[in-house]
Amino acid sequence: MRYEFTAEEEAFRAELLEWIENEVPEDLRGIGRAASDEEWENELRVRRQLADKGWLTLAWPTEYGGQGAPMMQQVIFNEEMVYHRIPGREPFGTRMLAPTLMVHGTEEQRRKYLPPIARGEVQWCQGYSEPDSGSDLASLQMRAVDDGDDFVVNGSKIWTSLAHRADWIFFLVRTDPDAPKHRGISFLLAPMDTPGISVEPIINMAGHHSFNQVFFEDVRVPKENLVGELNRGWYVAATLLDFERSGVDYPAQARRTLDDLIEYAHSTLGADGEPLSKDPDIRRKFVELSIETDAARSIAYEVADMQAHGEIPNKEASMSKTLGTKLVQDVYGFGVDLLGMYGQLRPGSPRAVLEGRMLDMQLTTVAFTIFAGTTEIQKNIIATRGLGLPRG
Ligand SMILES: Cc1cc2nc3c(=O)[nH]c(=O)nc-3n(C[C@H](O)[C@H](O)[C@H](O)COP(=O)(O)OP(=O)(O)OC[C@H]3O[C@@H](n4cnc5c(N)ncnc54)[C@H](O)[C@@H]3O)c2cc1C
Repeated sequence: MRYEFTAEEEAFRAELLEWIENEVPEDLRGIGRAASDEEWENELRVRRQLADKGWLTLAWPTEYGGQGAPMMQQVIFNEEMVYHRIPGREPFGTRMLAPTLMVHGTEEQRRKYLPPIARGEVQWCQGYSEPDSGSDLASLQMRAVDDGDDFVVNGSKIWTSLAHRADWIFFLVRTDPDAPKHRGISFLLAPMDTPGISVEPIINMAGHHSFNQVFFEDVRVPKENLVGELNRGWYVAATLLDFERSGVDYPAQARRTLDDLIEYAHSTLGADGEPLSKDPDIRRKFVELSIETDAARSIAYEVADMQAHGEIPNKEASMSKTLGTKLVQDVYGFGVDLLGMYGQLRPGSPRAVLEGRMLDMQLTTVAFTIFAGTTEIQKNIIATRGLGLPRG
């Protein structure tokens, strides 16, 4: 498939680039990790600007606060935001929960939850993983017991990204412990300030606080916060995962980093006094990674094209995630090697090259082949649902 952009899509990209150039100063741009309070404030400030432009939710229907724009505009938006390292997008609400509510939520739930997401007012987090349930998510044990108008929830979620910043959590609970494991799960929503919810930080290997463990102790969740049918939450959860895994972010991040590294290789002399970009091994590596970036971008566009036609990508989303995440890891790994000893310096170091981003992101992106379903799990999906191979 070769995707050609329409004149309207090109015009939108040009408008977006002009806005980025004029409205987002360099010091507000970053890698969007929002680790420090200052980065988080930047994140929220830009998010409000994006919401005012209607860009957080371009492809949503207008009645829920969207622009009713074609899906491809949303993809172009995501691509340029990542390429230019603009903070402000809110993936848990806009990219995961909202499209899932459009499929499985009641009209009342859509009208309640979607407009605040579109206005950039609410931060959501995702409570799927538990200390003993990751890849085998359906084995989750967090218990919700029926008690009048409420469920009473006890248990713990782990690796919950941004739980310490979030206003609301969407999460999975076991509502029927006697049913087969996929059939006793329900999908709930709760404000993070509900009595009984507490958050403990977990520091990742790059030294940043981005995920947490979340504890639930006798937490009362009203039954109206159930999404989809009782005990059928597994199917709601699976729809959300398909939305989570798709996207052009990985190839856009790889392209930007490669462009930075190519510029560095042109302007830096090697031991032989020639620019690094003349070194045949370095040139070969650039070519190899560029080809992979274009391939990952094509698959990401194919996924977006399916979404634009109302299809839910499944094995295609797994292919996109597998290829894109490995690519990003390879690009940062190459960046660290190319920079030599300077590649070991972190952001803030006075001698850091390319803002010390290479090592920081090499460490950060180790997680990319783990979150949203590990690469091994994606390959299982591609093998069974894509290639029709028997379960291993
Ligand atoms: C940075 C980061 C952010 C995250 N954010 C969130 C979040 O916001 N919310 C949330 O709910 N979770 C989050 N997670 C958790 C993530 O979804 C889990 O880590 C992931 O699903 C894997 O689960 P696990 O860590 O328990 O590993 P396990 O499931 O214990 O897997 C361990 C190893 O065994 C392999 N393996 C397991 N089963 C199979 C199989 N059937 N076939 C082949 N290999 C297999 C895995 O691929 C992996 O290599 C995050 C994780 C990271 C790293």
